[in-house]
Amino acid sequence: MILNRREFARLAALGLAARFAPALNAQTQEPKIGYAVIGLGRIAGHFMPGVLSTTNSQITALVSGHRDKAVRIAAEYGVPQSSIYNYDNFDEIARNPAVGAVYVALPNSMHAEYAIRAAKAGKHVLCEKPMSTNVAEAEAMIAACKAANVKLMIAYRCHYEPTNLKAIRLIRDGALGKVQAIESANGFNIAPREWRLNKKLAGGGPLFDVGIYSLNACRYLTGEEPSQISAYASVIDRDGRFNQVEENVSWTMKFPSGIVASCNTTYGANMTGFYRVHGSKGWLDANPAFYYDGLRLRAEFSGTQLDELNPARDPSHFVLQAEHFSHCIQNGLEPKTPGEEGLRDMRYITEIYRSAGISI
Ligand code: NAD
Repeated sequence: MILNRREFARLAALGLAARFAPALNAQTQEPKIGYAVIGLGRIAGHFMPGVLSTTNSQITALVSGHRDKAVRIAAEYGVPQSSIYNYDNFDEIARNPAVGAVYVALPNSMHAEYAIRAAKAGKHVLCEKPMSTNVAEAEAMIAACKAANVKLMIAYRCHYEPTNLKAIRLIRDGALGKVQAIESANGFNIAPREWRLNKKLAGGGPLFDVGIYSLNACRYLTGEEPSQISAYASVIDRDGRFNQVEENVSWTMKFPSGIVASCNTTYGANMTGFYRVHGSKGWLDANPAFYYDGLRLRAEFSGTQLDELNPARDPSHFVLQAEHFSHCIQNGLEPKTPGEEGLRDMRYITEIYRSAGISI
């Protein structure tokens, strides 16, 4: 439930506003969207400070299996202890009017269950990428949010980030001429004992986790959907890390205009996530393109040379992302990266694995 101004005023009159209702946006006097964060791990540690810097969002509840950790974080963000939930009593969030949306920051295979439970509790859902671990789960998440009449957004933060947006704009404006080819890669050398190496929790290896950035970038850079995909996967390190998931995936995509893209992802080497776009009038290179900050855009086209280091610091992506979702909730708009965007990536990931001979 999202409080409108009248409901907020009613709670205020009863002296309950401070306890249950989100604070007001200082400029618009609109109640802020209150987020319940599920999974207090690494990415939540970027999202929550990001929310603090928005004008229209705040953290109003926490969901964790570790009460002591949740109590500590609750104190930091001014979340009342009565708004700390665990995985069993999470559904009680339906009765908490201070929660307008739920941010799902759990291991991949838990996204579907908690997004659907959040929707059933009447809360909007912001879900981390990858949306799910298969197409059926992604479709069920979309259906559950539609049935509950709540919004679903996938946290593709690069869609809200200025360096990536500038790359898209240059391409759309024709600065590079006709785009012919894209190269992209993203990966890191993973530590043992990560849930990311457990197929049941992760769904698959680096493609689900970080390769998805290259896949998604090729789609937003071209503005097209791939029509053909082929892929290879391999394991080089027999050190126990890759008993369940692949270590490397390399794939190529052909888009309807004829643009070809080649991408690599790995859990065996540290790669700076990047893309390079080659057009008939020049090239563009975002490197790094997917880090939380320090993004650099270089380009050369028709006598123009660009070299721009984005000065924004982490958690700026998360500020922009939360601002967007809260704005969509407040104004009845469709988010830029809805569930359908996550579902498309799930379909292409399935196709990449199929082509590489891996069943997911
Ligand atoms: P993490 O391991 O740091 O945090 C996961 C959280 O889930 C922890 O709080 C953990 O306690 C909780 N959890 C509940 N049940 C669990 C279980 N059975 N096994 C392991 N943890 C369990 O992970 P993370 O890096 O924060 O990733 C969480 C999600 O966010 C993933 O889907 C990941 O793909 C995504 N992610 C997105 C970005 C981004 O830039 N958008 C970056 C990193 C991760």
